[in-house]
Amino acid sequence: MKYQVVIGLEVHTQLTTNTKIFCGCSTRFGATPNSQTCPVCLGFPGALPVLNRTVVDFAIRAGLATNCSISQRSVFARKNYFYPDLPKGYQISQFDLPICLDGHLDIDVEGQRKRIGITRIHMEEDAGKLVHADLPGDDDSLVDLNRACTPLLEVVSEPDMRSPDEAIAYLKKLHQIVVYLGICDGNLEEGSFRCDANVSLMPVGSTVLGTRAELKNINSFRFIKQAIEYEMERQAEILDEGAGSSRRPASSIPTPAPPAPCAARRRRTTTATSRTRTWCRSSSTTPG
Ligand SMILES: [Zn+2]
Repeated sequence: MKYQVVIGLEVHTQLTTNTKIFCGCSTRFGATPNSQTCPVCLGFPGALPVLNRTVVDFAIRAGLATNCSISQRSVFARKNYFYPDLPKGYQISQFDLPICLDGHLDIDVEGQRKRIGITRIHMEEDAGKLVHADLPGDDDSLVDLNRACTPLLEVVSEPDMRSPDEAIAYLKKLHQIVVYLGICDGNLEEGSFRCDANVSLMPVGSTVLGTRAELKNINSFRFIKQAIEYEMERQAEILDEGAGSSRRPASSIPTPAPPAPCAARRRRTTTATSRTRTWCRSSSTTPG
């Protein structure tokens, strides 16, 4: 192939805390829809989120195990966007001051050891879930907010991977680490470990990165590999035609058979992030 692929990965790991990140609701999977909710995770006006101390412990464990430096001070931010599974209208995440920075993992592919940089690890809450199937009207959807406010770590890699096999080796190593640490159950089918892949091509020998496409919310190692391979073919065709590849989410890209599932069809809407300092002081954390 005359093009070199460049891959960066963002992995969401759901943490195995008993309770959610900012309230005392249970995180148990498979409960009756909306039975594990409260004014905080439903986003009622005036509700006060209080940070779960265990989430911070787990984030530090993940950071130490991936050779990150642990920030003495980290700040939460509001990522504003509208979607029906996000009752507050914003997600509480971390933006410019995440808890872990500048780590790496070493992977082995075809007998060669390679170091993959980890840009950052940050804590955030998950959104709820929309259910579209088996409803009388085509336009009807149901909302289950049991998952809203469950704790996630987002692990963001540097764009250091140069083949689908390197991406899979990195993901399997990270999966092994979070399961070994006991901070994530590693269940891919239930979405506890899911991945966004940023994929671009550039001519071999070039140092200028191409335009990347984002493959969103893939929760199977096999499908991730297939999706990256498909995306490489798609971008190569576009580059062969002399045009730059377009940046677009995977939901608009035809997927190989079997199709890569979207655990939650995340949206590309206008987002804006702002810091918030009114809560989440470590002195007011709850065990959980
Ligand atoms: Zn709650």
